[in-house]
Amino acid sequence: MRVIRRVKEMVKAAERWRRRGATIGFVPTMGALHEGHLSLIRAARREHDVVVVSVFVNPLQFGPTEDFARYPRDLPRDARLAASEGTDVVFAPEASEMYPAGCCTRVEVEGLSHRLEGAMRPGHFRGVTTVVATLFHIVQPTTAYFGQKDYQQAAIIKRMVQDLRLPVRVRVLPTIRELDGLAMSSRHASLSQTERRQAGVLFRALTSAEDAIHDGERDPHRLRRRISRLIQQQPRLRVQAIAIVDAVTLEPVKALTGRVAILVAARLGRTRLIDNLLVDVT
Ligand code: AMP
Repeated sequence: MRVIRRVKEMVKAAERWRRRGATIGFVPTMGALHEGHLSLIRAARREHDVVVVSVFVNPLQFGPTEDFARYPRDLPRDARLAASEGTDVVFAPEASEMYPAGCCTRVEVEGLSHRLEGAMRPGHFRGVTTVVATLFHIVQPTTAYFGQKDYQQAAIIKRMVQDLRLPVRVRVLPTIRELDGLAMSSRHASLSQTERRQAGVLFRALTSAEDAIHDGERDPHRLRRRISRLIQQQPRLRVQAIAIVDAVTLEPVKALTGRVAILVAARLGRTRLIDNLLVDVT
């Protein structure tokens, strides 16, 4: 396995593969790899000739008060883990490689990027779509893999690919969870033991909402109150948002029918947690 740090070198490798007719599976990440990332790498490995994993903590997608500086970084460990899953190339550019002096173009999916997570983290999704579009041009993947854990992000990227006619297939794979249901995240390294114990309530609240739907609950307001009540039983958790939306448009639903996504965001000390569940209401 090779670690490539230069954009030019990555483009050259991608062009060589493409000329040979090889398919490229691509997993964009910010590093601190865990089982969630590895599940995406395994799928890329199964389905493609070549696998590229990018490791890039993208400054554009962090707000001024967010955790860019303390986001975990350990490239040697990430490279080892990626290699153990059969990755061919880890692409880990410096920020100055990705955004050289004078670089000022941004990619933005309007509407979708400004609601829910986007309303709480202004500019976040613009940073995400800008880096993902740039990475797509550099890596030239056949298929790019994303996790359902970042539900809105995946929806926005699908929209971007469709609107810009990017020749990339987008695959969204299920959330990988810890034993207590907590969705794995690179940010959990910063949780204290007590916080970590409390974090499991997020998933329990989501599954309890799912149970309520299966028991006949059809009122989104009551459902949100139920989720909020459950999360707030853990004193350190602060609910930031609970949204019950149409799974495709991400518009809030007035009544529960069809496929809905339940999205939650909460703060636990200095750490922000998000999770979601898709429910088919029959
Ligand atoms: P990140 O490094 O957090 O930017 O994540 C890189 C990719 O891995 C994104 O597509 C995430 O949605 C995905 N991902 C992160 N955590 C998980 C998880 N627990 N299960 C599945 N995919 C995940």
